[in-house]
Amino acid sequence: MQNSPFKNNHVYNEVVYKTLIESTLAIPWRIDWDTKQFTYIGPQIEKLLGWQQQSWKSVQDWVDRMHELDRDKTFSMCVAQSIAGIDHEADYRALKADGSYLWIRDVVHVIRKENGDVDSLVGFMFDISERKKQEQQLEILQRQLEEFSYKDGLTGIANRRLFDEFFAREWQSAIRLQQPLSILLIDLDYFKQYNDQHGHLQGDQCLREIAQLWTTCCSRPRDLVSRFGGEEFAIVLPETDETAAIQIAESLLQALNNAKLPHCASTISDYVSCSIGVKTIIPTEQLDRVGFLSEVDQNLYHAKQNGRNGYQAGEVHTLQDLTGS
Ligand code: GH3
Ligand code: MG
Ligand code: MG
Repeated sequence: MQNSPFKNNHVYNEVVYKTLIESTLAIPWRIDWDTKQFTYIGPQIEKLLGWQQQSWKSVQDWVDRMHELDRDKTFSMCVAQSIAGIDHEADYRALKADGSYLWIRDVVHVIRKENGDVDSLVGFMFDISERKKQEQQLEILQRQLEEFSYKDGLTGIANRRLFDEFFAREWQSAIRLQQPLSILLIDLDYFKQYNDQHGHLQGDQCLREIAQLWTTCCSRPRDLVSRFGGEEFAIVLPETDETAAIQIAESLLQALNNAKLPHCASTISDYVSCSIGVKTIIPTEQLDRVGFLSEVDQNLYHAKQNGRNGYQAGEVHTLQDLTGS
């Protein structure tokens, strides 16, 4: 055992540790707290960032070689944690000698003197650029997924799911602010016959064109044009009273009539037309959002009954209402 190469030899051990530490991918370093000078940094730093080992003199070199968007946040966090004597980690973009940046994770251990004051900081820098790249790709995918889940696949406008969420949000906002909220439900006229006459693919193309057309009619940033389902569209018009909502309904009818999309099987026009239910409300906590939507649907039904290619707004009085029976 006495001749073992693992004898308790101080110098020998130091060589072993240095060799081990300088052959890892992580880069070790040490900073003296009083002078804020690097007393050590692994030679691997040169291969990773391009700056020579000897060029890492003080904390300032570390700060200067950091992306300006990460600099203040990282520096102040590390100083605060060090003073508090708390080990910590920081992710930041380090500047390479060639001018590009590399994501680094610095894992920092605070060494204290016997009296509790900070003596030095020791740590490892890890190259996490690959991990960051994967995280960013994942973020893009998640954003796309979110976008797709709110987008109607055929027309590219908002889908039913987004309509439901947006309508619920605007309903609450209208209650809070006591502002009018208008909803338009639109159904294309004799669209079954359109498909029978012109083919389903042409029907799809027609839906795409109409979606784009109406999106341009509702130009206020908070207006939402959505595909409600099939050949039905729903429009949410926040902070819009009945007069303004009717004007929009008229402009939608006008735009569709002007587009002159031929519909050979329609009995009311040579072109594709639609019927619109319009209704406005200043909601209160006691009122039911879904109930309101079915009232808009009733208006749409009456627009159909009244001959199509038109709108029905306001209260619809049924025969039952009028006779009180
Ligand atoms: P009405 O004037 O009473 O509304 O008559 P309509 O034929 O339009 O009747 P309804 O609204 O009930 O018919 C919906 C038709 O819309 C059925 C289907 O052929 C067509 N449709 C629904 N979704 C799509 C779609 O995604 N693409 C195409 N091309 N057609 C669709
Ligand atoms: Mg329909
Ligand atoms: Mg229809």
